[in-house]
Amino acid sequence: MLSELQLQPKLVVPHVDILRKSPDFFETTSYARVGYEGRPNVVGVLRGRGGGRSICLSGHVDVVSAEPLENWSRDPWGGEVEGDLLYGRGAGDMKGGIAAMIAAVQSIRESGIRLQGDVIIETTIEEEDGGIGGNLFMRLTEPKADAALIPESSNLQIGVASSGVMYFRVIVPGISAHAATAHFGVNAIHKMIPVIEALKELNEERQRTIGYEYAEASDPRMKGHVTTINPGVIRAGDWPSTVPGACVLECRVGWPPGETREEVKDQVERAISAVSDNDDWLKDNPPQVEWFGWYARPHEQDVKHPFIQCLKDNITTVSGKEPLYGGGSAGLDTRFFAHHGIPAAVCGPSAERIHSHDECVNIDSLVKLAEVIASTLIEWCGVE
Ligand SMILES: [Zn+2]
Repeated sequence: MLSELQLQPKLVVPHVDILRKSPDFFETTSYARVGYEGRPNVVGVLRGRGGGRSICLSGHVDVVSAEPLENWSRDPWGGEVEGDLLYGRGAGDMKGGIAAMIAAVQSIRESGIRLQGDVIIETTIEEEDGGIGGNLFMRLTEPKADAALIPESSNLQIGVASSGVMYFRVIVPGISAHAATAHFGVNAIHKMIPVIEALKELNEERQRTIGYEYAEASDPRMKGHVTTINPGVIRAGDWPSTVPGACVLECRVGWPPGETREEVKDQVERAISAVSDNDDWLKDNPPQVEWFGWYARPHEQDVKHPFIQCLKDNITTVSGKEPLYGGGSAGLDTRFFAHHGIPAAVCGPSAERIHSHDECVNIDSLVKLAEVIASTLIEWCGVE
């Protein structure tokens, strides 16, 4: 498609040696499993005549699994259309948005309008897994645009912030023994209980005190829940007749703009180490904390920036109503633009049940989105 539009697309395969130099690098699960060979990002450019501002339209092409398939009432890979909805895995997250951004560039081309600034159009890999080989690699190696738009589904609202996300693992030692003489050993599951309690308390304390204007604006149910420490995995023991000699707990901590990764790490580590003060075993055998996987900083875009105002005006014109500013409670690719000094926003179609069965996107909102993008390109990049 990008070739047909004469955008001279090229493939950009991530190199992990370049990525490792970034403070935002972490090993994604897909990198650990299959590496980056044969997993290219794609970029094409609609060259402007010069003298205008450039923009990068960016979308991720990876999707999450469609499992469990039996929950779907249609083929997750069939692209069935019913009424105003198109169904399928990735319809909303985010093939629909990618189709709209390509359609916007196509309409500019076909109308004969010559923009002044360049329009860079890119598709990236592994956003669902952290975006490291995708958007981060593109920011580290591709020329810098004057603004960026990611058409992730947002119901034509403007996303201006994203959350920090980190994973950590707590390892509590024990001493294995026969269950009949359990008192000869130390049960690591029992010793993990106060760690879980301490993390729960820290979580509640943080939820009471930390707010996030943009997430609460887009969904009032987020109030009091904009930061979370979620225990997601626990492993210990192998059968009931042995006292488990170790217990491992894996958690995700997410938080809104306002705290650094170092501050959040410090809070978590202090809460866990305080548990040892009240336990003779843990005093001599303290829980170990390891940070692994997701290591994303939050970001927040100033809404007064001319690009955000330009986008807002065009959404208002196309949809007939002024958009809200929202913020995501997960890590988002927009953060890589923001952390590389590029003003960025999310604006995308209306979608339902992303990451779930019967995911679908509203076709009318895709058409409106393409209009919003095309008119934003004209205004932002300029015409002669
Ligand atoms: Zn997405």
